[in-house]
Amino acid sequence: MQPRDLSEHEAYVPGRGAEEVARDLGIDPEELIKLSSNENPHGPSPAAVEAIEAAAPTVNVYPKASHTDLTHRIAEKWGLDAEQVWLSAGADGAIDYLSRAFLEPGDAALLPDPGFAYYPMSTRYHHGEVTTYPLEKSEDFVQTAEDVLASYDGERIVHVTTPHNPTGSTVPPAELRTLADRVDDHTLVAVDEAYGEYAEDPSAIELLDDYDNLAVLRTFSKSYGLAGLRIGYAAVPAAWGDAYARINTPFAANEVACRAALAALDDDEHLELSVDTARWARAYYREHLDVPTWPSGGNFVLCEVGDGAAVAEACQRRGVIVRDTASFGLPECVRVSCGTREETRAAVETLNEVVAEVRPEASGP
Ligand SMILES: *Cc1c(COP(=O)(O)O)cnc(C)c1O
Repeated sequence: MQPRDLSEHEAYVPGRGAEEVARDLGIDPEELIKLSSNENPHGPSPAAVEAIEAAAPTVNVYPKASHTDLTHRIAEKWGLDAEQVWLSAGADGAIDYLSRAFLEPGDAALLPDPGFAYYPMSTRYHHGEVTTYPLEKSEDFVQTAEDVLASYDGERIVHVTTPHNPTGSTVPPAELRTLADRVDDHTLVAVDEAYGEYAEDPSAIELLDDYDNLAVLRTFSKSYGLAGLRIGYAAVPAAWGDAYARINTPFAANEVACRAALAALDDDEHLELSVDTARWARAYYREHLDVPTWPSGGNFVLCEVGDGAAVAEACQRRGVIVRDTASFGLPECVRVSCGTREETRAAVETLNEVVAEVRPEASGP
């Protein structure tokens, strides 16, 4: 016997892990600079680490109080009702919850191209169809409501990413308003703010008072440094917040993750350090890399290097792991995450050396 027809489903291609690469190169993972998955180079908040250790002896119990506590803490942070906060296993889990709550078999979701790989995966898991709208490199990947609407054909969900992975472009709140105003009544605009803390724009969560066809995704994986715990949430309008109880996977937001997230939310210093370093690093990349790059609102920068796979491979041999963006549909680019200042400077040196070598004609006489 076989599972259902999965031929349209594509496997997620993660950035390569330090341990995996170190094993290939026969070196210590500590010697590698990993800038391929937009992780927080400062690690988790020390307060979160303490909370994780403190939670360990009670993980025999299902997470109930911690789920309630975190939901209320997030609701308070944004001025929402508790029902409007849908905790999930990462923002990826929240994408699934929206697919589950909205898609009937055969309904379509409109997605950015290039874009984050989990949107089409989640859509297809939920028996939905995938359509796309382009972000044009020739227009510096700019995102406007008009551009999305040009491809819009009544889809049930429109996914928008701001800041956008992997290009770094952002969607101003005024454009999100226009988009939410202009789509049909049955269309949900799902705004993915996985990198929201690094951006300058205010969160689209502020629009939830005015719109009942908008949801906003947030995560603790990036700026809060908790990627390994898998905790995130969707902020949704009050009008349909109660759907969560009918669609969520019981206890998917685990005890340790909820406790760590609560601690992380109270550590402003760690968040500020993380955001400040990322803003410094993305400016540093833009200024010092010898290849075309794009402005980024996130903790990463997209770089046009010619042969992305060759450059990523050569960087890796020199101990710097960057993300080859072929799986995003940009084989001529790599995406490099913001490291600590030391890591970021080393990455620039390595990338510039590699690009000069891989493209000798570019270095000139
Ligand atoms: C990293 C990322 C996410 C989700 O990450 P989780 O670890 O599942 O919270 C969602 N959207 C985008 C665009 C991302 O880059």
